Amino acid sequence: MANRVHNFNPGPAALPLPALARAQEEFLDFAGSGMSVMEHSHRGKEYEAVHHEALRLLRELLAVPESHQILLLQGGAHYLFASVPMNFLRPGQRADYLLTGSWGERALEEAQVVGQARAAASTASEKTYRRALRDDELPPSDDAAYVHYTTNETVHGVQFHHIPTVKAPLIADMSSDILSRPLDVGRFDLIYAGAQKNIGPSGVAVVIARKSFLESGRTDIPRYLRFSTHAASDSLYNTAPTFAIYMIRNVLAWLKEQGGVEAMARQNAAKASLLYQLLDESPDFFRAPVERDSRSLMNVVFRLPSPELEDRLVSEAKKRGMVGIKGHRSVGGLRVSLYNAISLASVETLVQFLRDFRAQG
Ligand SMILES: *Cc1c(COP(=O)(O)O)cnc(C)c1O
Repeated sequence: MANRVHNFNPGPAALPLPALARAQEEFLDFAGSGMSVMEHSHRGKEYEAVHHEALRLLRELLAVPESHQILLLQGGAHYLFASVPMNFLRPGQRADYLLTGSWGERALEEAQVVGQARAAASTASEKTYRRALRDDELPPSDDAAYVHYTTNETVHGVQFHHIPTVKAPLIADMSSDILSRPLDVGRFDLIYAGAQKNIGPSGVAVVIARKSFLESGRTDIPRYLRFSTHAASDSLYNTAPTFAIYMIRNVLAWLKEQGGVEAMARQNAAKASLLYQLLDESPDFFRAPVERDSRSLMNVVFRLPSPELEDRLVSEAKKRGMVGIKGHRSVGGLRVSLYNAISLASVETLVQFLRDFRAQG
């Protein structure tokens, strides 16, 4: 096998090797058709089989009930930041956003371009975020068009470990933790996720939405921007990002073989606890700023005593084949992303390296 690194990138992120190898194997001659999957018509039977398999696997892996429909859209999570308010926020209405990190802020800013939207609750403190929100901190949202929150804040490393209880329709950005654990889809009116963290390559956003909610969307916006358009055509209204969806199929097939989201949840908990344990062992050296019960199992954020030491750690890690651990440019520090494709063995290698680095001081 080629020389693969331990890839802790935040997104686009590591993909499971078997999903990549399968693509390599099928690349030039897909399903005996004499061409690659990306050279097929998106309306041909070869591609359609892949498209529907991806949708079927998502439904099975996340136990999506019949009340909900799954869409595969282009434009990433940012498309949803804009299209959610365009579809579901009408003049005279207000949308409530719960802020626990910078992606939620970004979603709110976009909604405010469209209509009236407010930060209904926030854990911002000293220009950063260190925790999720408790239910008793949420204002009543009975009169909101919807409540939006981010299940896992990828930059700040803050994750909700419960689903907020609200009266209004609930919408969640799950870009960085979808498929990492079992999910009660029925509690949500709309879930969305950019694919490039836990689902596949960039270029696709997965949407899972209650059918009745989708149908309630505005119809006075361009057709392409209406969720109902894509729902009515099984996400084949126009040319789909066929190769990205093919890769998603490969990742989902791999995930199913691994034992699905329950197996992922167990492995993700084991990986994160290995790393947090080390950080907690020496709080004078490693500083993990996020409060314990809000710690992300996907993005482990921490600091060293100085930025110089952090830079040295990043470059020494790279020499040892471990990449992607620099914190987001907006917050600095270090961040290790532990999505589904990261093996326990990779985390063990990293933890041993961090232990040695600390010993050198
Ligand atoms: C990465 C990320 C985004 C941005 O995704 P794009 O596909 O680049 O638009 C939004 N929200 C969360 C939680 C993310 O992790």
